[in-house]
Amino acid sequence: MAKINPAYRRLTAGYLFPEIARRTREFQAAHPDAAILRLGIGDTTEPLVPEIISSLHTAVDQLATRETYSGYGDSEGQTPLRQAIADLYTSLGAEVKMEDVFVSDGAKSDSSNIQSIFATDSLVAVQDPAYPVYVDSNVMSGRTGTKNDLGQYEGLHYMPCTAENGFFPELPDRKVDLIYLCSPNNPTGAVATRDQLTAFVEYARKHKAVILFDSAYADFITDPGLPRSIYEIPGARECAIEINSFSKSAGFTGVRLGWSIVPAELSAEDSKPGELHKMWTRRQNTFFNGASNIVQAGGTAALSPAGREQTLAVVKFYMENAAIIRACLQERGLTVFGGTNAPYVWLKTPEGIDSWSFFDKLLNECNVVGTPGAGFGPSGEGYFRLSAFGRRENILAATERIRTQLVL
Ligand SMILES: *Cc1c(COP(=O)(O)O)cnc(C)c1O
Repeated sequence: MAKINPAYRRLTAGYLFPEIARRTREFQAAHPDAAILRLGIGDTTEPLVPEIISSLHTAVDQLATRETYSGYGDSEGQTPLRQAIADLYTSLGAEVKMEDVFVSDGAKSDSSNIQSIFATDSLVAVQDPAYPVYVDSNVMSGRTGTKNDLGQYEGLHYMPCTAENGFFPELPDRKVDLIYLCSPNNPTGAVATRDQLTAFVEYARKHKAVILFDSAYADFITDPGLPRSIYEIPGARECAIEINSFSKSAGFTGVRLGWSIVPAELSAEDSKPGELHKMWTRRQNTFFNGASNIVQAGGTAALSPAGREQTLAVVKFYMENAAIIRACLQERGLTVFGGTNAPYVWLKTPEGIDSWSFFDKLLNECNVVGTPGAGFGPSGEGYFRLSAFGRRENILAATERIRTQLVL
């Protein structure tokens, strides 16, 4: 008799983005003439840059002849790509070796799969609000109880990120085992300072905790004083895994490529340095046969000097969108956070309007779709996320409607 995994039943229904899609669909059905503009989901819209496109074409052609054909590669990734990723860290002044790099099909899968090398009864700390994957994947892995009246899953340690703490959390007031940190942050757009990251690294080393650091938006940091990798912090190689992606920085959301850094020095409470690195190697060798060889060629090209120049120009374009959105909201007198070192603008909803009500208001009055902060965790209530990924004409049209049609 087959039985289902009961942990999945603890997931509350209505994942954020399906609920947004449902409300948007219903609105469109009721208003067939409305031209809805979507600043909701964080998905890239600009085409791949020429340097990447030409490398993808070359890699496809190599599969067309017996002489240049290749099949399975190392599950850790192709050496030129792993080396290019290590070099990227070196350019930041962070120590990462080629052997520390594990290439993957994306940061979403890594950020959930990485849990499998840690004990099921680990106490997991998450930022609140956070990228929903960290919470939901831990629920599915059986690390939590059910959701309580506060909207928190029992058994997770929530670290509130509020306007008061600049949307970067205080250190946990108890001993936790795994700590998810995302900087620049989705959804708040906040970036951890060097001092803030140093405090977490010191906490992790003291308590033998492991930090899972998601740096998917590192390339969107414009302030040169802010750290782009946790390995810029001394001691981080002993206590942190970093997860990154080509999705946002190179437009690979549909192409699929990411990486994780699991340093040789990393250790947990009951392990010696090197063991976690070996376990993740074993896990990937068993569950994963490597990222597409075509796509890895594209990733290597993205990290070449020409590739970097071209992709960073696209990042700059999105950050101009963010500046347009910020300026419009400020002009309307709204309180705005983020959007200067991250492609997300995080606004405080007007007094007395919760984040789902603001979603409906923006959809009704402006036909613009955004993302309610409450969907990212209880501390996101009263906030709303607008994404700077979008075509310029849509960003301009959406901000024009917010300027002239939003009733405040
Ligand atoms: C978009 C995003 C990712 C990227 O995930 P991929 O699976 O690589 O596309 C990772 N982390 C955060 C916080 C994101 O917003």
